[in-house]
Amino acid sequence: MGETTKIAVAPPIQVGGSLFTPEQLAKIGIVAGPDARIEMTPFRQLYVEVPLDRRDAVKEELERFGLEVYPAGFVTKSLIACNFCKGAEAAGLETARMLNQAVAGIETPAPLKIGYAGCALGTSEPLLKDIGIVKMKDTFDIYVGGEPKGIKAGLAQLLMAGLTEERLVPAVKAIIEYYKANAKGKEKFSKFVNRVSIEQLRQIAG
Ligand code: SF4
Repeated sequence: MGETTKIAVAPPIQVGGSLFTPEQLAKIGIVAGPDARIEMTPFRQLYVEVPLDRRDAVKEELERFGLEVYPAGFVTKSLIACNFCKGAEAAGLETARMLNQAVAGIETPAPLKIGYAGCALGTSEPLLKDIGIVKMKDTFDIYVGGEPKGIKAGLAQLLMAGLTEERLVPAVKAIIEYYKANAKGKEKFSKFVNRVSIEQLRQIAG
């Protein structure tokens, strides 16, 4: 195939969860070609290997089919959202989409996973993500530092509660920018949170 690169492909954030249509799945297979490796990641993106010189064309083609294409690797992953079972409005679908647009694909010192849950039942496991957002009636709570891996796995801690939608995106972006600017090498986000402290991050995000 010559030199290849990986792209991360995801369906849009929608009611019902990470749903692909049959056409979208078929299209991924066609544009990837018969020899490509397609990997299902644990963060709800498909990693698709494509020829480096066709990357942009493939991206455009997949986007025309309603798919979203992001960089792979050391970036913020697209938002790992819930199924919005309480309805688009009650569970904050538009907010989740806005947040995804604002943060997905930002280069980071280590891969960063951001979770979103439309209610406190948290079925998308937001407290196991680096940054977790939970909608609580009309406002949002932000948790940070969840670590699902290893034998020292741990839950994210509450950083801020009761944020309006207007304050949510700037707060999450500020946390990511601060992490980018102050991480030591490839420091994982959960370690970073423990090192700089929740109090410090709260000031940054506030
Ligand atoms: S987090 Fe709440 S709104 Fe979202 S799918 Fe789970 S139960 Fe439904």
